[in-house]
Amino acid sequence: MERGCEHCGKKFIPLSNIPGQRYCSCRQCQNARRKKWRKQKLAIDQDYKNNQADAQRRWCEKNKGYWGRYRASHPEYVERNRQFQRVRNQRRKGVNEASDTSTMIAKRYALSQVKTDISGYYKLVPAGPQMIAKSDVLLVKLDFISTGYPHGL
Ligand SMILES: [Zn+2]
Repeated sequence: MERGCEHCGKKFIPLSNIPGQRYCSCRQCQNARRKKWRKQKLAIDQDYKNNQADAQRRWCEKNKGYWGRYRASHPEYVERNRQFQRVRNQRRKGVNEASDTSTMIAKRYALSQVKTDISGYYKLVPAGPQMIAKSDVLLVKLDFISTGYPHGL
């Protein structure tokens, strides 16, 4: 009586008290089952959808200042957001050399449509785990070899 789990595909034996069980009992698969159920329910059941929205609204009303308190007690969360914001600001101002160079290449590539024209020297800027470009720049040279792979590769 084994069957394949709809989420992970592994074989499992359905519990006797759950006829038509399609997901194995591991946590990820049960979460996937609930998520799918909720999504379907929201799509077809307007009352359910309204109730969920109401509950969310009430929670927000009752927990006013939740995010303020969260930020106050989680400085690393605030710092992380600040870092991301810095990257976004740099991108907007065009200060970030890494993103500058990449847009330049992308534009050139799209405009020319000639794929043989990418040979040349490029500046490679290593981005750290925060995706903030570090100052040490590598100079790399790309040499064009062929217009594409032979079919079948
Ligand atoms: Zn599973």
